[in-house]
Amino acid sequence: MAIAAMSLCACVEKNPLLKEWDTPFGIPPFEEIKTEHFVPAIKKAIEVHDAEIAAIVNSKEEPTFENTVLAYDKSGELLSDVYGVFGNVESMAFNDEVAEASNIITPLMSEHSNNIQLNDALFQRIKSVYDRKDQLGLDAAQLRLVDNVYKSFARNGAALPEDKKAELKEVNAAISNLQLKFSQNLIKETAAWKLEIKDKADLAGLSEDFIAEAASRAKAAGLTDRWIVGLDNPSVMPFLQSAANRDLRIKVLDAYLNRCNNNNAEDNKDICAEIIRLKLRKAQILGFDTYVDFQLDDRMAKNSENVYKLLGQVWKPSLAAAGRELKDIKAMAAKDGITTVQAADWRYYSSLAKAEKYSIDEEAMRPYFRYENVREGIFYVANRLFGITFERLENVPLPHPEAEAFECKDVDGSSLGVIFMDMFARPGEKSNGAWCGGYRDQKYDENGNKITPIVTICGNFARPVGDKPSLLTADETETFFHEFGHALASFLIDVRYPGISYFDHDFVEVPSQLNEHWAFAPEVLNVYAKHYQTGEVIPIELVNKYIESKNYGQGFAMTELIAAMYLDLGLYGQSEIPDNYKVLSAESRILKEIGLIDEIPPRYRAPYFLHIFSHGYDVGYYSYLWAQVLDNDAFRAFEETGDIFNQELARKYRYEILKRGDEADAGELYRNFRGHDATVDALLEHNGLK
Ligand SMILES: [Zn+2]
Repeated sequence: MAIAAMSLCACVEKNPLLKEWDTPFGIPPFEEIKTEHFVPAIKKAIEVHDAEIAAIVNSKEEPTFENTVLAYDKSGELLSDVYGVFGNVESMAFNDEVAEASNIITPLMSEHSNNIQLNDALFQRIKSVYDRKDQLGLDAAQLRLVDNVYKSFARNGAALPEDKKAELKEVNAAISNLQLKFSQNLIKETAAWKLEIKDKADLAGLSEDFIAEAASRAKAAGLTDRWIVGLDNPSVMPFLQSAANRDLRIKVLDAYLNRCNNNNAEDNKDICAEIIRLKLRKAQILGFDTYVDFQLDDRMAKNSENVYKLLGQVWKPSLAAAGRELKDIKAMAAKDGITTVQAADWRYYSSLAKAEKYSIDEEAMRPYFRYENVREGIFYVANRLFGITFERLENVPLPHPEAEAFECKDVDGSSLGVIFMDMFARPGEKSNGAWCGGYRDQKYDENGNKITPIVTICGNFARPVGDKPSLLTADETETFFHEFGHALASFLIDVRYPGISYFDHDFVEVPSQLNEHWAFAPEVLNVYAKHYQTGEVIPIELVNKYIESKNYGQGFAMTELIAAMYLDLGLYGQSEIPDNYKVLSAESRILKEIGLIDEIPPRYRAPYFLHIFSHGYDVGYYSYLWAQVLDNDAFRAFEETGDIFNQELARKYRYEILKRGDEADAGELYRNFRGHDATVDALLEHNGLK
């Protein structure tokens, strides 16, 4: 025993994750950290967190805001630091060793959080504070924290009597099993189907890249002189958009739309029905009429009436725009002798119609979007809005040799934190896409000193090669602005408690999407979008053409998207599920009620709607549109003043929204900034739907 304890102790002492980080800005000592350090560090940090929770629970004193809610809110700091480093390694430096650590750490973390959520003695102390919260002389932020902490427990069933708690536990377990089964079925079914093309003529219309990829898929399957098209998005979407062979398009789309709807072992229809039934039961146990009511209770949207109102306002103009697009499509299809347009024709003829209307070479834009120039443009916008500046940091630990580090400084020169940018692709090692993460959130120590955040943004841009710098597409440029918008929110938040520092689920994307609006404003392009060889500013006609061409097809895009949002709400909004419930009958009823046209299927049908049956976006799919309405309306506020850098608005945006995080309801924060609720007008105009 003694020896084991000693060796654990020695190992813990040497573990760089567990030492005080005596580095500039308290950045994790990346060079010292090895993958083997994570599992013991996480185990130790869980022990420390458990001890902190035990100290709260075992206190002999009467529960108070300080000794219970505040102590709980502050607990687990070491764990969140250590796990923060690990989470970033998982997404930016993945390998087999990391995967192995992940297989150990993931269940440890979920068990740990379950143990806390189910700790009844802890909950009873929190409840005791919550029940007396109005007599404790708490200020608004403290009351908000008490509410948030109490609710997070109550929503997990902590306030229920024992029998209901047990039932909820069973329901939750059944839901997670079914969710796993749902996604496994979809993976299997998607992988199982292949269209084997034998005749090269059937590839007409498809790009060289696509054909090469299809050939390499065939080769991997041991076939020569063949091409394979699959049902995964990177294969199916370009095929539907460009393949001239109509019969094959129909075949592929039909297979795509019927994934997990083939009455085989991978069929998801009954699983959907069972998940819907179980989630309704969960909502009822927790005191709600429907699962929609339960889910929206802690969102900015609040209730389904608000969500339906918003969807309706965008739905009608989207459907009308789709109707206009259908006219173009019919005219194009008629040239090929097609009299009745089908769903499998839409993407194909729409892309032909678009090419005819807006011939644009997006590659011609790249030379104006040199990586370093775009980054300067992003810093410029932040500086013009908030007066903040960014200074390159040398000699600080870097999460990856390729990452760059900058310090963000406020107007008065004080530090607002550090940002790492790790923007180039590393296939196999780094996750796809782009994201904003971090190593530490803004917080205050026990002496009231502010601790600044450490933020990171990652991307998958093409790296510089030889003399050729990294040149971004217009789309990647917007993505860079987007992720930086998340980072800005991290730098500018300033709240006292971690438990009130997160925006609502349906508000998180607002700061990032809002930041995109400055990317292509002429006065911003003038500053950064300069040709990497000639220094010439990008011709504004090129940018306008790009924006117009992007807007073409928005009728279809919004219609298929919003139809899926209605489906999400409709399926989970039922207060009763009959015994013979059939998910596809419910689906057709919902889509019929909104008047979806036959030529446009919803973006997802129930049997493969992964977001809502497996990935935690249940009653959350609407939030993409919700946030878009807000970011467009917020940018409109700047435009209305005639100055996209209007200082009074920038100040309000910073101090009424970004600074406050979750100190108050997001709707209230937004009204404080805007003077009124957001309307859909700016979104409709921005997307060319008016
Ligand atoms: Zn985002």
